[in-house]
Amino acid sequence: MSLEPDYKHFIQRIIEDDNLSGKFEGRVHTRFPPEPNAYLHIGHAKSVYLNYGLAQQFSGKFNLRFDDTNPIKEEAKFVKAIIEDVRWLGADWETRLLFASDYFQQLYDLALVLINKGRAFVCDQNAEDIRKTRGTLKKPGQNSPFRDRSVNENLNLFEQMRRGDFPDGTRTLRAKIDMAHPNLNMRDPVIYRILHASHHRTGNDWCIYPLYDWAHGLEDSIEKITHSICTLEFEDHRLLYDWYLETLDVYRPQQIEFARMNVSYTITSKRKLKQLVDTNQVDGFDDPRLLTISGLRRRGYTPASIKNFTENVGVSKRDNIVEMSRLEHSIRQDLNKRADRAFAVLNPLKIVLTNYPDDKTEMIKAVNNPEDSDRGTRELPFGKEIFIERDDFMEDPPRKFFRLGPGREVRLKYAYYITCHEIIKNSRGEIVELRCTYDPLTKGGSAPDGRKVKGTIHWVSSRHALRAEVRLFDRLFTVPHPGREQDFTTVLNPDSKIILMNCRLEPALKNAGLNEHYQFERLGYFILDPDSKADRPVFNRTVPLRDSWAKLEKQGQANK
Ligand code: ATP
Ligand code: MG
Repeated sequence: MSLEPDYKHFIQRIIEDDNLSGKFEGRVHTRFPPEPNAYLHIGHAKSVYLNYGLAQQFSGKFNLRFDDTNPIKEEAKFVKAIIEDVRWLGADWETRLLFASDYFQQLYDLALVLINKGRAFVCDQNAEDIRKTRGTLKKPGQNSPFRDRSVNENLNLFEQMRRGDFPDGTRTLRAKIDMAHPNLNMRDPVIYRILHASHHRTGNDWCIYPLYDWAHGLEDSIEKITHSICTLEFEDHRLLYDWYLETLDVYRPQQIEFARMNVSYTITSKRKLKQLVDTNQVDGFDDPRLLTISGLRRRGYTPASIKNFTENVGVSKRDNIVEMSRLEHSIRQDLNKRADRAFAVLNPLKIVLTNYPDDKTEMIKAVNNPEDSDRGTRELPFGKEIFIERDDFMEDPPRKFFRLGPGREVRLKYAYYITCHEIIKNSRGEIVELRCTYDPLTKGGSAPDGRKVKGTIHWVSSRHALRAEVRLFDRLFTVPHPGREQDFTTVLNPDSKIILMNCRLEPALKNAGLNEHYQFERLGYFILDPDSKADRPVFNRTVPLRDSWAKLEKQGQANK
C-alpha cells in the first residue's frame, strides 16, 4: 500500500483543526510515556514515531516521560534500556527526559486539593470489597460506607497514609464521583494506594503511590502536553482523565486514542515478552527473534526501516495486525542500498582445482554495491582450494538444477568457469570434496569463445577464508496470531534459531564493524553480533534476500 503524498491521518487532522481554532495557541507538544517495567517493542516504536513525528511536523516539542508510578514492577535497568532504545530510534526529547516520580509531591498536593473540594475521600474498604461493591455494566455499584467522611477527617487520614501509619492495602484515597455511573471507571475510582515498597528513583520517600488514571492526566497537564496520544484501551478512561483535570481546574490536554499496532507471528505484550525472557525461552530481551527494539537492533534492523514500516502502516481507530513480511520488505529496501556485498559460505564444500598452480594466489576484483557505484570495488583472493555452498552441488541433479554437478560447468562469480570431474566421499558415503578444473581463459567470468553457463555461484578461497559462526533466524511462532492462543508458549517454533559453526567468509570481513550491514551474496543481509570475538566473528542474518513468506501469506498458506 502506498500512501498519497497528501494523505493525512485522523490525528494530523485533529491537530490541524486545533491549530486553526487556536485551541492550544497553535502549540503542539506530545510525549512518549513508557512504564519502565520491560523493554520496548515494535508497538512502542509506532508510538514513538507517531508522537515524535507529529511534534516535528508541526514544529512542536516531544517529551520522553517515564510513567514510573508502580515500584513493584519497575526497575532502573528498564529505564536505561528504554532511553537507549528511544535514542537509537532517533527521537529527540532535547532536555525533556522526565519522570512521573519527580511529580510525586505535586500529585500529592493536588490530591489534597481534591479532598478540600469534597471530591475525594479515604476509604477503609480493601481491594476485594471495592471490587464487590463496584457493580457491573448492568447494575449500579454501592456507595462506600466511608464516603461521607468530613474533609478534615479525610485530610488527617490521608496524611497518616502518607506518613506510613497503615499497612498495605488497608486504605485508599478514592475520588467521589458516582457509584451508579454507566462508565465503571467513574465509580469512585482509587487515586492512591498504600504500598510500602522502595521505588527505583525515590527510594523510601513514599509509601503511597498514585494510580495510573490520576497520575497520567496530571503528568500531561504539568508538562503542558497538547495532544495526549494513547491506545484504544484508554478510550473508556478519557471521561475520568477529563474529570480529574476539570475538577482540579488545571490545564487540560486533549486525549486522543488510536489502535495498537500488532504484527503477525509475534507478540507485543510486555507481560508475555517478559515471561519468555524469565523462563529462558529466548536469550534475553535483545534476542534477535523478538520484535523488541533491542532485538531488532541486534538482528540488524535499522531505525529508518522501522520508521518507514510504522509510518506506512498508518494510524487508525481499528485494531489491526500487520503482516511481518511488510517489516521484512522495509528492511530489505533499506539495506539493498546501503549494505556492501560480501562472499560467505555457510555450509562449506571443498573444491580442489586440479589444474591450478599449487601456491598461486591471485586477486579477483569484485563490486561492493551494484546499487551504488560510489562504493567501489574490493579484491578477493583466489587459489587452488576454494569452498562453495554445499547445496550448490548435486550428485544427481535434475534437469532444472543449473548449478554444479558431475561433468557440469558453472561460473564462479567474478572468477572463472569450473567443471566438476570427480566426487570424493568419506567412509560414510558423505561428499567431502570435489575435484574440478578451471578454464584460465574465462578470467572475470566470461568465455572468449562465447560459451555460456547457466549457473553462477559464490565461493571463498580456503586458504584465506575467515572462519565464523552464523546465526539464522526464523519466526519465533508457528502461527500468525500467537497472542490468541490459550498458551502462547505451545506454539513456539523449535527451528527459530539455527547456529552454523563452520562458516567461511571472505577475509575482508575480519574488519567488519558492529553497526555495518552486509549483503552476503545470495544469502541475505547480515550484521555482526556483539557475541563476536576478535578471532571468531559471529554474524546474525537480518533477513534472507527472497521474500518466501510474503508468497505464503498471499496464498493463505501461512495461516495453516
Ligand atoms: P502495559 O501498560 O500493559 O505495561 P504498554 O505496552 O501499554 O503495556 P506502556 O509502557 O504503557 O506499555 O506504553 C507506552 C506507550 O506506548 C503508551 O502510550 C502505549 O499506548 C504505547 N503502545 C504500547 N503498545 C503499543 C502498540 N502495540 N502500538 C502502538 N502503541 C503502543
Ligand atoms: Mg500502558
